[in-house]
Amino acid sequence: MNALADQDPAIWHLIQHEAARQRDDLELIASENYASAAVMAAAGSCLTNKYAEGLPGKRYYGGCSVVDEVENVARDRALELFDPPGASGARHGLGVNVQPHSGAQANAAVYLACLKPGDVLLGLDLSNGGHLTHGSPANSSGKLYRAVHYKVDASGRIDMNAVREIALRERPRMIVTGASAYPRLWDFAAFRSIADEVGALLLADIAHVAGLVAVGLHPSPVPHCDFVTTTTHKTLRGPRGGIAMARADHMKALNSAVFPGSQGGPLMHIIAAKAVAFGEALQPTFKAYQQQVLANAQAMASRLQERGFALVSGGTDNHLMLMDLSDRAYSGKDAEDVLGRAGITVNKNTVPNEKRSPFITSGIRLGTPAMTTRGLLAPDAVRVADLIVEALDNREDADHLAKIRGEVHSLCALHPVPGLRAP
Ligand SMILES: *Cc1c(COP(=O)(O)O)cnc(C)c1O
Repeated sequence: MNALADQDPAIWHLIQHEAARQRDDLELIASENYASAAVMAAAGSCLTNKYAEGLPGKRYYGGCSVVDEVENVARDRALELFDPPGASGARHGLGVNVQPHSGAQANAAVYLACLKPGDVLLGLDLSNGGHLTHGSPANSSGKLYRAVHYKVDASGRIDMNAVREIALRERPRMIVTGASAYPRLWDFAAFRSIADEVGALLLADIAHVAGLVAVGLHPSPVPHCDFVTTTTHKTLRGPRGGIAMARADHMKALNSAVFPGSQGGPLMHIIAAKAVAFGEALQPTFKAYQQQVLANAQAMASRLQERGFALVSGGTDNHLMLMDLSDRAYSGKDAEDVLGRAGITVNKNTVPNEKRSPFITSGIRLGTPAMTTRGLLAPDAVRVADLIVEALDNREDADHLAKIRGEVHSLCALHPVPGLRAP
């Protein structure tokens, strides 16, 4: 960082400001986390200088012997995490490509590997918690393929009978499971049987829950799915990036869909950082971390409900929850602004049967991965829920919000972010 401070103080100062924000404020954005110092060291390494188009042992550039080893370590560790030997010692035989630059790129590569333009893609509706890359008209997945969507039912859960009806009617080539804002578990076996009934391929996009899946706290899609994609930076707590996995018979198509199909040279520094993060996730402490993520989410959800707030689906089974503000005088956007002034970072989110625009929304999404990384425990999660309610109740009172912000900053000061140096 000294070289940066000397050469480019403008950017250096901005990074210091961002570090202070990450350190002082309470991060409740469900898709964010704090990568370790080791992950960031790999991401900031000289591997950024290296071109390595192709795969280990089959590159289009010289000088790749070291990065070949790096990529092989990343691949081995990813498979150790997501396709470990079962009780009988057998694996499911998944392959992995660790080169996707992001979760969106991983999904685009899967579609490119097995769909033709115009093929039918069935995914969860965006306003019901799905992701843009699951067939939104704003994304290439909704422009290149004919996207149809399933929704959650009145109780906020995915209704498998409705999924089956849509699948029988629309005959999708691919069914996509996974979400950005769904607080409940996925029944991958039930999706598999629907996919088999209509002859569809099955993709599990576990971007949000990958860390929980890796330690067995969320069912694994691996026994049931043809493809599995994930980001590496959400509950998995690695660098910003993605990976894509597939059954052996799809690996050749998947690899060429990543490169040269949709990407150029892989980011070897990020692949090294992914390897470091996977190594961390293979440690026993990572399971304890994920258990605490769930315990914190339970504590926060129960407290918010005790305090009279509705949660979509009535609670959570994972690391996130959606506060439903449909019955309130203020919107998701208002709540995001108010909590921001109280030092608590969240994002506005649509809720099922949303009445307001996607820029305003009637919900906010809260997640516990980042606060848990900094060591906050269930009693802290209860206190944070109380502070959220206090801030929303006093949303017009700038002094009161400033007072809450002071308490939030004190709480955060007691729990430094691993990976960020104190000022
Ligand atoms: C976050 C997310 C993605 C996209 O990840 P990026 O790295 O931002 O491209 C894809 N799918 C789901 C379900 C996500 O939540």
